[in-house]
Amino acid sequence: MSLLTVIVPCYNEEENVPFFYEELMKNEPALAERGLELELLYVDDGSTDKTVAEIRKLRERDERVHLVSFSRNFGKEAAIYAGLENSRGDYVVMMDADLQDPPSLLPEMFSSLEQGYDSVATRRVSRKGEPPVRSFFARMFYRLMKRISKTEIMDGARDYRLMTRQMVDAILSMREYNRFTKGIFGWVGFRTKWIEYENVERLKGETKWSFWKLFLYSLDGICAFSTAPLMLASVMGIFFCVVAFLMIVFIIVRKLIFGDPVSGWPSLVCIILMVSGVQFFCMGILGQYLAKTYMEVKRRPIYLVRESF
Ligand code: UDP
Ligand code: MG
Repeated sequence: MSLLTVIVPCYNEEENVPFFYEELMKNEPALAERGLELELLYVDDGSTDKTVAEIRKLRERDERVHLVSFSRNFGKEAAIYAGLENSRGDYVVMMDADLQDPPSLLPEMFSSLEQGYDSVATRRVSRKGEPPVRSFFARMFYRLMKRISKTEIMDGARDYRLMTRQMVDAILSMREYNRFTKGIFGWVGFRTKWIEYENVERLKGETKWSFWKLFLYSLDGICAFSTAPLMLASVMGIFFCVVAFLMIVFIIVRKLIFGDPVSGWPSLVCIILMVSGVQFFCMGILGQYLAKTYMEVKRRPIYLVRESF
């Protein structure tokens, strides 16, 4: 028998924890048929509700339930890392606690691994039940990333992914502090099979991702997997130099032919404002990368554990 670790990051999911357990266990026979034993690893990301108590209840019934509980909310990326680091399975799968990642796909996913893939990932083909503005920006983000990043980041990819131990170890070897998991999966490579499914709505509770949080997250993603914005500063610099040069030529020629009645104060102000605006913008971009580098060189731990079993 091989061991399959199921990692479930939970942040205030008290209502979903027991349902998830039931739903997962329904697939146990099908997995056992394929020679898989289950290990369930909940990662509590500093929940403030009864999530930990619910997990403890499960543990009393089932020895295979494990918990890593953080000292505070470190974010889902940290929870995924902790899950991978504490997993013991020959295979590892990550799933949301809200049953948006249907456990019923697991046996099918595992079959693909047996065909020689290192990883089976899922993507949702529809964004049903999501605000249209959010879908629009999500699409824009993926399109932009495709252009500016060398790492492949799949549109609509979920974090629901089954991997071999080899791939898990590869991901764990990336110790970066600013973790953008979608990019990390693409970066490590390996042979990945994609499974598509319709979006499932969250079982209970609210999504933890506000539009603003997602927006900031996408900026993090861009910073983490592309340096194209840094190029932007150089490109704009060159562009403005060319424009300035053309204007100088134009003014000299005009002076020589028509003489020079002094005017042009408003246009001067506009130009100064615009150029300084561009300068601040570029400084902001530089600042972003500098800030990331600053956080990275501090080498802080990715997460801190308060309790585990
Ligand atoms: N989550 C987490 N830490 C956080 C936010 C979310 O561990 O800071 C977990 C959450 O409990 C859930 C999963 O990440 O299991 C996905 O979160 P959510 O369902 O809110 O995101 P969505 O599915 O809407 O993208
Ligand atoms: Mg969800």
